Amino acid sequence: MLSELRSWKEIPIGGVAWKLSTENKTGDWSPFKPRIDQTKCTKCLICWILCPDMAIEWDGEKVHEKHDYCKGCGVCANECPVKCISMVRG
Ligand code: SF4
Ligand code: SF4
Repeated sequence: MLSELRSWKEIPIGGVAWKLSTENKTGDWSPFKPRIDQTKCTKCLICWILCPDMAIEWDGEKVHEKHDYCKGCGVCANECPVKCISMVRG
């Protein structure tokens, strides 16, 4: 019942990360990490665009996995058009 829901004023304050995201590595609990096969990568940057955690880095020449921030969701591997990203235990 909607009338039984608490208002936002009654809900306790949630967790807040006070540090910069560069200091707060958020990917260390993920059991799977992407591994990019650079020999097959076409540099289309779809993985870079779609990663919800900005855990794919483009350095102007290659894409790189940023495992410190990757949540292991597999979006990059799923969407890579040439399937050169593998999700591995890491
Ligand atoms: S597995 Fe998910 S979080 Fe990790 S790099 Fe790929 S899209 Fe980003
Ligand atoms: S989606 Fe695949 S082919 Fe495209 S840049 Fe990423 S790893 Fe390379």
